[in-house]
Amino acid sequence: TGVTTAQRLAGKPVAAAILEQVRTGVAAFVARHEYTPALAVVTVGATDAAEWYSAQLQKQSVAAGFGFQRVALPADATAAMLCDRLIALNGARHIAGVIVQMPLPPHIPQSIVEDTLDPRKDVDGITPVNAGRLALGKVGLFPATPSGGIALLKYYGVPLAGKRAVVVGRSNVVGKPFAQLLLREHATVTVAHSRTADLAAVVREGDLVAVAIGREAFVTPDMIRPGAVVIDFGTNVTPDGLRGDVHSDVMRVAAAMTPVPGGMGPVTNAVLLQNTLRAAEALAGETGGAA
Ligand code: NAP
Repeated sequence: TGVTTAQRLAGKPVAAAILEQVRTGVAAFVARHEYTPALAVVTVGATDAAEWYSAQLQKQSVAAGFGFQRVALPADATAAMLCDRLIALNGARHIAGVIVQMPLPPHIPQSIVEDTLDPRKDVDGITPVNAGRLALGKVGLFPATPSGGIALLKYYGVPLAGKRAVVVGRSNVVGKPFAQLLLREHATVTVAHSRTADLAAVVREGDLVAVAIGREAFVTPDMIRPGAVVIDFGTNVTPDGLRGDVHSDVMRVAAAMTPVPGGMGPVTNAVLLQNTLRAAEALAGETGGAA
């Protein structure tokens, strides 16, 4: 007795709501212009993960009404070759968004992409311009996964203003931008990482706990304040399937929690397409600019 179970914050309805808006927006854009905006996905080297990822994005882009372009470079492509392709995509009018599959092979520095990609087409918010805009509280194109976290919390009506939020992980793609987005929502934000002293005590302070570290079941029930809301960004491939960074027993302590799979995963690509629509509108001079 007394065992409660957290509300499951499923990602599918959130993604569906976003994609519905995007579909309507793309159809309206195409009616106003004489071209269909497209998303481009660039991969270097053919891995199963890259193939799967780009096939998913192609399916979802087309379903939303976007065009799609795949740029598949061989594993031994040089940095200069990648640079040339990005410059071509920057200059192609119908291309509204460009995603470069990470990680790149070790001989190509990620900074090549960050420094070459047009920030107006940077739909996953990796360029210094968009990172700066996020830090300064301006409009811009922000990383899809953490933006999806905010979209999910808003969808489920989780209040953020004045709440204590603890973000575990400080990567440029998830932890750090999520902390900044929470700050914009007026949460009181702590960012924890691998050098945080007494991590459990820090995490236990959180009314909201978001975890993006890449370690299966790392966050355990003893680390969670009863009644907290938990966002699990982790995606760890295990023999038992996809697992999060949060232990499933946390469901007994938290008030609400995103499952893995079925939580943040579906939301990320929906936000990517939402960013692509905003980029298309800004590039067409219709809005003050997503970037
Ligand atoms: P990352 O770049 O490897 O960063 C991991 C972060 O976790 C680092 O800041 C690191 O701290 C911290 N960390 C590692 N071990 C820790 C520990 N024992 N205690 C506290 N902090 C620790 O990872 P990422 O790219 O942010 O991805 C994180 C997770 O999210 C992965 O599982 C990834 O697959 C997943 N992810 C999911 C999506 C999605 O769509 N759902 C998208 C992107 C990523 P230091 O900075 O001190 O090293």
